[in-house]
Amino acid sequence: MKIREIRMEMPAGDCPGCGRHIADWHVEWLAPLDQGPVFRGQAAIDCPGCGAPILVTRNQNVVGVAPPDVPVRKRSRTQAKKWAKARSISLDDYLQQHGLPYRNYGFEP
Ligand SMILES: [Zn+2]
Repeated sequence: MKIREIRMEMPAGDCPGCGRHIADWHVEWLAPLDQGPVFRGQAAIDCPGCGAPILVTRNQNVVGVAPPDVPVRKRSRTQAKKWAKARSISLDDYLQQHGLPYRNYGFEP
């Protein structure tokens, strides 16, 4: 087993805006229509800690703070609820137990 390769796949990255460690950027909480632009680097996702527009890849590798002309997409509560339901947990329970950076996050509907 090559531990180094597994680590490369870990969804983890510090925010280049605030330096906060974001264990999971939860790009899968973006509405399906927003995922394409973000994964292509045409839109940014906001940091749940500081709100800075961050360019993140599909594999949650943090590229950097987006230039000012790049639009920002916010995570969808509907999408997050579906994600939680697929894991047999309610979104509220997930946020309480594991989702600390997202507890006060301003979800899109
Ligand atoms: Zn931040």
